[in-house]
Amino acid sequence: MRLSRYFLPILKENPKEAEIVSHRLMLRAGMIRQQAAGIYSFLPMGKRVLDKVCAIIREEQNRSGAVELLMPTIQSADLWRESGRYEAYGKEMLRIEDRHERELLFGPTNEEMVTDIFRSSIRSYKDLPLNLYHIQWKFRDEVRPRFGVMRSREFLMKDAYSFDLDFESAQTAYHRMFVAYLRTFNRCGVKVIPMRADTGPIGGDLSHEFIILASTGESEVFCHRDFLAMSVPGADVNFADAAELAAIVKDWTTPYAATDEMHDTALWDGLPDADKVAARGIEVGHIFYFGTKYSEPMNAVVTGPEGKDIPVHMGSYGIGPSRLIAAIIEASHDEAGIIWPRSVAPFDVGLINMKPGDADCDAACETIYAELEKAGVDVLYDDQDTRAGAKFATMDLIGLPMQVIVGPRGAKAGEAEVKVRATGERETIPLASVVARVT
Ligand code: ATP
Ligand code: MG
Ligand code: MG
Ligand code: MG
Repeated sequence: MRLSRYFLPILKENPKEAEIVSHRLMLRAGMIRQQAAGIYSFLPMGKRVLDKVCAIIREEQNRSGAVELLMPTIQSADLWRESGRYEAYGKEMLRIEDRHERELLFGPTNEEMVTDIFRSSIRSYKDLPLNLYHIQWKFRDEVRPRFGVMRSREFLMKDAYSFDLDFESAQTAYHRMFVAYLRTFNRCGVKVIPMRADTGPIGGDLSHEFIILASTGESEVFCHRDFLAMSVPGADVNFADAAELAAIVKDWTTPYAATDEMHDTALWDGLPDADKVAARGIEVGHIFYFGTKYSEPMNAVVTGPEGKDIPVHMGSYGIGPSRLIAAIIEASHDEAGIIWPRSVAPFDVGLINMKPGDADCDAACETIYAELEKAGVDVLYDDQDTRAGAKFATMDLIGLPMQVIVGPRGAKAGEAEVKVRATGERETIPLASVVARVT
């Protein structure tokens, strides 16, 4: 992509409305634009990151055996009356009336709808287990939308729903998602800690929030230092092996970790001070087993092995990709701007032509640009005739992992400079080695 043909509305000044660094940097780097309170457009740069994050989420959901579908954003109020949640959900739900005075709503979540889809066609326990997911916009009329896409009213969510015959297999479904989440966040370049979360009237211990530690997080969290060094399961994890999954979950749930709602001061006080991490955290994912809470009132039953109707055991599993992007930035930035983990970077490489119009510079850049594209590397080519300082500042701000800088003297000598954004490390290398160096 040539910067001269792109749409990258950079802000030089810090926007006053942005209270936290990720919001500031997303606005400054031209990733998002607010359209109304808590409602954002994702501009091209933001859209690229969102797509990368969603691709990772999708791959890991699919790997774990979940099946993608796409449900609508608009739902009928009647469906929510069946579960009893239409009134109970309260003011966070955006209620809509159509021209025929039918009551609709903009979905804040999809338990009812997916249960309806399930009951319309699944009849036998032989069709279980099943996990259906989608990635779709949600609307919650948050009392206090703030921090940009971190807490917005319209936001993207990956939500998965599992259906099983009994508790035991529902627990395995839960473990599958638990492990898929560890892999997903790890691939997005962030450290997450699964923390015990409230299960409400359902009880049990099958609810975890996946938390990224960050000083700007809205939750107060407490965990054991061991989490910071734990290793995440590899791509070879066998999602068909319930015992293997259970063992991984056990490892990841044994050290102490809880949000303030679930905090057990007696247990906490028993830990050596050196092992305690008391911090703030951002909830980027949440998994939850809720048994027959929806299947019973909505009559989502299957015929069991003995021929009897059995309400299915369900769980739901959410990730907020739009919030996750902000959380990644909270965890990975410096004074100059964003530092993208390569896996989610909008482009892999930024190519800077220091003097467009200079024959050597232009020729060297065009060659590198073409070769990088050919090698399948996403490259943003700054071919604009602007000041050197502005070019460097923009490239650092948007945080692409690698920069290739071509100036007239270097180009004449057959050299370019390569800079690693994360470390600031610079190196001058022959033009012919650039592609190999940055791929
Ligand atoms: P919070 O405690 O922050 O209000 P929640 O517990 O209400 O979040 P869930 O219902 O568990 O959220 O939804 C699943 C995921 O959707 C969350 O873990 C989060 O990543 C994302 N999410 C929820 N609300 C928002 C929001 N207002 N803006 C952006 N992402 C959100
Ligand atoms: Mg909420
Ligand atoms: Mg929450
Ligand atoms: Mg939650």
